[in-house]
Amino acid sequence: MPLNSSNDQIPARVRKISWSGSNATGRRAGSTHGGLRWESVPWAARRSHLGRRGLAIGIDIGGTKVAAGVVDPSGRVVEEAWRSTPGNDARAVEQVIVELVQELGRSQRIASVGIGAAGWMDLDGGTVLFSPHLAWRNEPLRENLQHLLRRPVLVTNDADAAAWAEWRFGAGQGESRLVCITLGTGIGGAMVMDGRVERGRFGVAGEFGHQIVVPGGHRCECGNRGCWEQYASGNALGREARELALRNSPVAFELLKAAGGSAGNISGVTVTERAKAGDSASRELLEEVGHWLGLGLANLAAALDPGTFVIGGGLCDAGELLVGPARTAFARNLTGRGFRPVAAIKLAALGPRAGMIGAADLSRVSGRARG
Ligand SMILES: [Zn+2]
Repeated sequence: MPLNSSNDQIPARVRKISWSGSNATGRRAGSTHGGLRWESVPWAARRSHLGRRGLAIGIDIGGTKVAAGVVDPSGRVVEEAWRSTPGNDARAVEQVIVELVQELGRSQRIASVGIGAAGWMDLDGGTVLFSPHLAWRNEPLRENLQHLLRRPVLVTNDADAAAWAEWRFGAGQGESRLVCITLGTGIGGAMVMDGRVERGRFGVAGEFGHQIVVPGGHRCECGNRGCWEQYASGNALGREARELALRNSPVAFELLKAAGGSAGNISGVTVTERAKAGDSASRELLEEVGHWLGLGLANLAAALDPGTFVIGGGLCDAGELLVGPARTAFARNLTGRGFRPVAAIKLAALGPRAGMIGAADLSRVSGRARG
């Protein structure tokens, strides 16, 4: 696959990682992080010298699984391996990462490693400030891993990684202002603006799921009430379906049957499956979630004015059953409707490997914003 022509939008000065000794241009590099450092290079020089042609490993650290893949410069995953996430122990997670890189690096030369994880990273991409699933609190993960792996490492937020992958190789190709939304148990968000991941002044932009859409509404784990992710996520879909079933509503018959007769067993996945099979109650539930999705996207359009929204995550298995109603609600709630172009709303193209692919590619070419 040819590289995306919009790569030309990458700013003139970007950063790369140099391994100690000599950097990609043959000059000696200084040592600031155990023999590694970031440095600025002109885009043209980077394109001709950095290992864009090389293979990189992308690692997606989830709450239950650490998935790793060798990714080529066209975004193709050529080999994969995974381990269970080892609980809350930061050192054990590092060890799993080392094992995976060693396993995948046996048969091929790996230029760099990108790590994607839920949480907040500092703008430099070196320290995990906070990760909800793991024990990382102000963890200097990049330095630790570069020391262990003896390779350049980039640490990034998983939503940023997925957005980057969709921009480079997926549904967001060619878009100068892209907003990506990941619908899973909650809502993840990220932006790629003018060819770089936009992370805000402090590195924590993209928490779209916690915009308040219903003041005083459902309690959210963030501490507030009425957050968008309480209405437009897979968890919200499951909660609404269970509530319907617990009321002994006859319209929930198909859902209850699919869940073995127990309302507590109904999840967002159950609803999506039944909706695809034609169950009208499940379709209504998805339509409702789609409505909330479109309303939140209209809020984001008012603030950010993107050209394209890419919607990914597990809930997107529902496809147009979800995105169709979202488009309708988006158009209905868009500020200045009738007098402005309407952003496209597209389904993500890369599936669950987007985070892995994006982390690997970002480790090759850092297009991250910096304050
Ligand atoms: Zn919240």
